Amino acid sequence: MIRLAETAGKLPGVVVSREYKYACSDPGQDMIVQDVRKYGLNRVVVASCSPHLHELTFRKTVATAGQNPYLFHMVNIREHVSWVTEDPEAATAKAEALVKAAVLRAAFLRELEPRRFPVNPNVLVVGGGIAGIHTALTLANANKQVYLVEREPTIGGHMAQFDKTFPTLDCAACILTPKMTAVKQHPNIHLMTYCEVGEVSGFVGSFKVKVKKYPRYIDEDKCTGCGECIEACIFKEGKTPSEFDVGLSKRKPVYLSFPQAVPPIPVIDPEACIEFKSHKCPKSCVEACGDRAAIDFTQTTREVELEVGAVVVATGFKPFDARRLPQYGYGKHPNVYTSLEVERLVNASGPTLGQVVMRDGRKPESIGVLHCIGSRDENTNRYCSRVCCMYSLKLAHLLKEKTGAHIYNFYIDMRTPGKGFEEFYKRLLEEGISCIRGKVAEVSTWPQSPAEEGKLVLRVEDTLLGAVRRIPVDMVVLSVGLEPQADSGQTGRLFNLGCSSDGWFLERHPKLAPVDTFTDGVFLAGCCQGPKDIPDTVAQGGVAAAQSLALIDKGCVEIEPVTAFIDQEICSGCQICIAMCPYTAIQFDSEKSVAALNEALCKGCGTCVAACPSGAAQQNLFLDEQLFAEVQGVLV
Ligand SMILES: Cc1cc2nc3c(=O)[nH]c(=O)nc-3n(C[C@H](O)[C@H](O)[C@H](O)COP(=O)(O)OP(=O)(O)OC[C@H]3O[C@@H](n4cnc5c(N)ncnc54)[C@H](O)[C@@H]3O)c2cc1C
Repeated sequence: MIRLAETAGKLPGVVVSREYKYACSDPGQDMIVQDVRKYGLNRVVVASCSPHLHELTFRKTVATAGQNPYLFHMVNIREHVSWVTEDPEAATAKAEALVKAAVLRAAFLRELEPRRFPVNPNVLVVGGGIAGIHTALTLANANKQVYLVEREPTIGGHMAQFDKTFPTLDCAACILTPKMTAVKQHPNIHLMTYCEVGEVSGFVGSFKVKVKKYPRYIDEDKCTGCGECIEACIFKEGKTPSEFDVGLSKRKPVYLSFPQAVPPIPVIDPEACIEFKSHKCPKSCVEACGDRAAIDFTQTTREVELEVGAVVVATGFKPFDARRLPQYGYGKHPNVYTSLEVERLVNASGPTLGQVVMRDGRKPESIGVLHCIGSRDENTNRYCSRVCCMYSLKLAHLLKEKTGAHIYNFYIDMRTPGKGFEEFYKRLLEEGISCIRGKVAEVSTWPQSPAEEGKLVLRVEDTLLGAVRRIPVDMVVLSVGLEPQADSGQTGRLFNLGCSSDGWFLERHPKLAPVDTFTDGVFLAGCCQGPKDIPDTVAQGGVAAAQSLALIDKGCVEIEPVTAFIDQEICSGCQICIAMCPYTAIQFDSEKSVAALNEALCKGCGTCVAACPSGAAQQNLFLDEQLFAEVQGVLV
């Protein structure tokens, strides 16, 4: 480094060059400040570790010294030299070339100023599962106006379907429904159920959102939630599979998803309702509703426009479709269930009132719970869904409690890292649950012995025993993994969110910015970012709320000037850049026949700069003359 400092000191325009081991430390920064002041420096180059970590540190240092912070340039010695060049001599030569390039480039740096925009204090939360609920309540309690948009007729998400929650076995409804009610009653929360975001424009601090409000055919302002319309419906029995009971019960054309639904307003399903099909229904629901006159068959989808400063996306997950693995016989053998179905089956308010009776009417005497269905599998999803081991143990406990059956849990590895999780696993072993280490190869109904007659036979390699076993059971539970929502790509496009290779929304930094996204002002909460349990979901919802508050309470947003700009004198109006811009930051000014760039939306990706045939699109800090100077510095 001493040689590097000496080389730099001899370059034209360099007034002072120093070697210092930790330039980012307080004394290191102080040294820079003193030099800028003493020598009246108007450009600073630091050649050290990654700009990703310390560019901002040194920009602030330069500003402290009284100079414009953008008159600073950093050479990435760590990633570009030390980490990739083994030969010390070659490394030093490369570092010298990069420093030369930086010094030449620095001469062309221009003073830049960050832009400031006011922030709308309202927040949009998309998704009303436990993540969205917790985020909305935290924000509302901090006196912010929150729009909570949920596409189902009720909030609650998957948690509302569970009986108990691991590892404490709290009753899910007992801990969730008070929060759901709090959402409904909170004066700062504008609950918009049966709604979906259709369009988003604007930028951090100032988003304009169009929300589609689907018709319930029941006026939310007039309905008292008495449920008399449901009672009066001419269908005495439900005929449509209940979404909430994952098809294990039937609902009527007019229905409430579940008794504690929030809001407690029923919905009419036009696909099932006779009135919509033939107009020949006696409409006993209308009669039952009486003077309240809440039923309105003429409702159509409406659009509501919102203006918000921040958005929290909390759209959750979808369970893996067990039909994709036909070897387990889901949909073929009636007594093969998914874990979500079992959640409903063991639930005292579920379709069987908590009685575990199989589809063939029998009570199971032996049950196999198969972990990792659609997780940790090269053919489906390679990732671990994080919650399945624990919820499988929970279901094993509940099934044993309800049926007294012998329960086998088949696992690849038992993953129980969490507070009280390992203790829960131990407790289950003491309760007499058999845990077999091995992935079940198939579920068949071909008996090879009298003991297998009429049973579901699980063929598995017991990897602890080192033997292939055949285990006959009455009931099979497939512990399905968690997958991104089917329409997560569409949601991602609305908010300009990136996705990981598995399809989960991508956080800005996995460790340092776990709820931020690459779209400023849009945050993530819960399982839409990746599989997680309820405690982690709630914690992340709290962080997303805190990040939104930090943005809003500042009152204005400052945007780094590392954006593109369009020289309208040169622009030919070809509009190529408009189609290329991934952030929809460029619009066509038809009066002037030129492209106009919105700096608040621009992320400085440079796509328009590369695409512009006339050279009208340029980018701050990456101007042509700066780049040419840098190239020249490397070559000479
Ligand atoms: C079988 C099973 C059992 C489990 N048991 C436990 C347990 O015992 N303990 C535990 O800690 N964890 C458990 N989990 C994990 C738990 O389900 C999740 O941690 C939790 O549900 C995540 O909440 P969420 O709000 O992120 O997502 P979700 O619960 O999926 O909620 C997302 C919400 O967003 C809505 N939504 C989706 N897309 C849109 C859109 N475009 N616009 C508007 N709204 C939208 C959905 O309708 C839904 O209401 C279990 C998971 C499974 C599969």
